[in-house]
Amino acid sequence: MAYVISNECINCGACEPECPVSAITEGDIYVVDADTCIDCGACADVCPVDAPQPQ
Ligand code: SF4
Ligand code: SF4
Repeated sequence: MAYVISNECINCGACEPECPVSAITEGDIYVVDADTCIDCGACADVCPVDAPQPQ
């Protein structure tokens, strides 16, 4: 399982430094590398718009 960042993302960047395995990168919206994500939920905890969701 991995978190996926939805189109709700407003590109605030808050999640990226919170990821313990550096799975989040900036793009058109921020993106989670599913192979690297350890499903910790830290990104979802800091996101102001609840864009990261477990899939
Ligand atoms: Fe990184 Fe955890 Fe979010 Fe996965 S759930 S992208 S490991 S902060
Ligand atoms: Fe997008 Fe939420 Fe990450 Fe901000 S914290 S970049 S809104 S996913």
